Amino acid sequence: MNAAADSDIRAHAAQLIGGDRRALAQAITLIESTRPDHRRQAEALIEEILPNSGRSLRIGISGPPGVGKSTFIDVFGQHVIDQGKRLAVLAVDPTSRLSGGSILGDKTRMEVLSRSDAAFIRPSPAGLTLGGVARRTREALLVCEAAGFDLILVETVGVGQSETAVAEMVDLFLLLLLPGAGDDLQGIKRGIMELADILVINKDDGDLSASAARSAADVANALGLMPPRHQGWRPEVLRCSALQNSGIDAVWERALAFAAILRQSGAFAAQRRDQAKAWLWHELADSLIEALKADPHVATQLEALEAKVSAGKIAPTTAAQQLLTGFLRSR
Ligand code: GDP
Repeated sequence: MNAAADSDIRAHAAQLIGGDRRALAQAITLIESTRPDHRRQAEALIEEILPNSGRSLRIGISGPPGVGKSTFIDVFGQHVIDQGKRLAVLAVDPTSRLSGGSILGDKTRMEVLSRSDAAFIRPSPAGLTLGGVARRTREALLVCEAAGFDLILVETVGVGQSETAVAEMVDLFLLLLLPGAGDDLQGIKRGIMELADILVINKDDGDLSASAARSAADVANALGLMPPRHQGWRPEVLRCSALQNSGIDAVWERALAFAAILRQSGAFAAQRRDQAKAWLWHELADSLIEALKADPHVATQLEALEAKVSAGKIAPTTAAQQLLTGFLRSR
């Protein structure tokens, strides 16, 4: 990149670190772009702001559709703002645009927060695969931190693989559940339950209160059988009503307790280091696949080999080896 572009990037980074919201929104637009020149600018910008990132608490929030994620984030976010903090809400949702379901991180779903200067809300980028969305969200998270947000919430739907991707980028994973959950825990897979550090039964109000209490006991029982994810922290089950804004302060208090306990034991920093390493490997895998697909030698062989693999004429392992050999020779 030339000197003028370098100084542009430095100026952009300085504005962003100074808290300029437009600079932040532009940075995220660059990050979400698939244009190669934008990619290069985004990478240079992230390098520039990296020393200013890392200081927030990163919380992943998941739960089945209709559990009250956006209602919860709206009141939880406001509570955090009342404590003098600033928060950003990002989303990992590769499915919403396809299924026509509610769009995570959509401002209209978080009415209070969307009007607050202390909050920044960004929906999930469209048109990318889960890997692509996760990659962009990790980068967006870093620039939000550099822009001075104290808390980053990453929202996702509790039905698919995106939870694992989110758990790999946050410090604390919070799972919202509905009252009256049966044995199958409302379609929440056990693997997702195992990721959770704090589980919150939402809609603990009115007629639903009794079943919220039962669900909390059931979930606590189920958790007793699972291995703890962090030393020094056993997953906790809480209850709240996002609609009536009750029990929200306790969720924040326990989130802070979680962070304090893990910081003291060193587990907090260790998890961040492991996540950074895992990100490196994701980037390597993604970049290699991209380079492979863009390689002209691979392209000439690919269609025929794919056809042979589908027809059972050649083993996938053999085909992969042939493609890889061709790719490496062409370097
Ligand atoms: P999301 O799909 O998980 O984001 O869920 P929403 O926040 O859109 O909420 C789904 C529905 O549940 C809406 O009609 C909300 O008003 C309602 N809801 C959310 N939180 C509560 C709660 O604490 N109690 C009750 N009774 N309803 C709630």
